[in-house]
Amino acid sequence: ALHAVKISQRFGETQVLHEVSLEVARGEVVAVMGPSGSGKSTLLHLLGGLGQPQSGEVYWEGVRVDSLSVEARAKRRVRALGLVFQHHYLLPDLSLLDNLRVPGMILGEDLTGRAEELLRQVGLGGRGQVYPEVLSGGERQRLAVARALMARPAVLLADEPTGSLDRANAAKVAQLMIDLARENASGVLLVTHDEHLAALADRQIHLLDGRVVTGAEAAGAALLLAPSA
Ligand code: ATP
Ligand code: MG
Repeated sequence: ALHAVKISQRFGETQVLHEVSLEVARGEVVAVMGPSGSGKSTLLHLLGGLGQPQSGEVYWEGVRVDSLSVEARAKRRVRALGLVFQHHYLLPDLSLLDNLRVPGMILGEDLTGRAEELLRQVGLGGRGQVYPEVLSGGERQRLAVARALMARPAVLLADEPTGSLDRANAAKVAQLMIDLARENASGVLLVTHDEHLAALADRQIHLLDGRVVTGAEAAGAALLLAPSA
């Protein structure tokens, strides 16, 4: 599981996160919604151990990681988390299969069989030897999802993973990500502006000015997202 206790972050004079606490269990899908600038990406960044919060605690699989060294965190992250961003961050000089084998290399394990299985599952079976540049936008994001799942992580952290795709394609890729995560018993924390995608989650968290809000406040936050607001 992924677990955060009262994490706060400020940049200069601006308090971007105020004592945010949350938990994502294996197999659970949680959507994070909120207006632009509400702190969603900052939150995922800190949960992913890519930065250190000013205060608060982050736990991966019950182990406190915010106080670990960058190196100790990096190794632990491969098993704990899969990261998917709006941009795919695939390695252009590696074939699709080799892109998927990177997590295994970090762990010192040959995960070729797993890579081939995931390639098939994301609809790219038989294309392991091609390079990312020949893929469509949707195919690249599907490969990024496959890579994130390689080490069967406890939780996928996905920051608008389908934000660069058209609506129909976004829905397909998001559904595939959720289905595969459930199959792998991985949880998902999905940042999205799209209510249709958020509706695929087991529950939703609303951020407003760096705070988790509930009830009427969350409804207000949803209004801010509406095109007419
Ligand atoms: P969006 O929906 O547009 O992606 P968001 O909810 O992901 O927005 P964040 O990217 O987390 O928002 O940003 C929250 C606030 O923190 C913004 O005001 C942003 O300008 C600020 N911010 C984020 N990162 C930094 C940084 N490294 N230095 C200074 N300010 C930052
Ligand atoms: Mg963001």
